[in-house]
Amino acid sequence: MPAIAHRLKQIHTQIHAAEQTYHRAPNSVQLLAVSKTKPVGAIISAYQASQRHFGENYVQEALLKQQELGAFDITWHFIGPIQSNKTKVLAAHFDWVHSVDSLKVAQRLSSQRPDFLSPLNICVQVNISDEDSKSGVNLEELPDLISQISDLPNIKLRGVMAIPAPQHNFALQRKPYQKLVAAVKALPNEQLTTFSFGMSDDLEAAIAEGSTMVRIGTALFGARF
Ligand SMILES: *Cc1c(COP(=O)(O)O)cnc(C)c1O
Repeated sequence: MPAIAHRLKQIHTQIHAAEQTYHRAPNSVQLLAVSKTKPVGAIISAYQASQRHFGENYVQEALLKQQELGAFDITWHFIGPIQSNKTKVLAAHFDWVHSVDSLKVAQRLSSQRPDFLSPLNICVQVNISDEDSKSGVNLEELPDLISQISDLPNIKLRGVMAIPAPQHNFALQRKPYQKLVAAVKALPNEQLTTFSFGMSDDLEAAIAEGSTMVRIGTALFGARF
């Protein structure tokens, strides 16, 4: 079996094991394959092994790949930092944007979403590690932003996304996710059902705390250089 297909299978096995261990419903955790910096051939290998959802961080790189892969039935997710001069391209070329962290960006995505496409799925990125350098809104700002975004016409607010500071201890990995899920569940918005968190190094902790979409790059495609 080719390496990527083999790793994909291992990751699915890990996800299913974690679902069982932490009493999550079977198949409640989706796998987003993060293909940034990886060649189109790697995406095709994963696709041939049934992967359909791919995440990219860089707009230009993603557009080139999308062009080459036009004939493939891929759902494209944007997970990188958003510059406001890129919202038009994002609105036209992606199915999901996980990294919305301001009303301004959400408004632009909504007004720039082409009419012939269904509403753009978005997640609000939350900064759960209180690091100045990380993007995302603070938990305190989340309720207001969520209520303002919910009213926009051409986007569909699905949930939240987070990239915590790396931790190697399992209990410490779980902590910020626990706080985030509790805060989201306390909100009145019932459409917030996507919890986009968990990467190669903290997949199990993320599933233990309620992730519904883990974003996996390294464990699937190998190290990035
Ligand atoms: C690169 C990246 C990932 C994947 O990280 P790995 O550690 O390689 O699995 C997930 N989410 C975001 C936002 C990323 O930028």
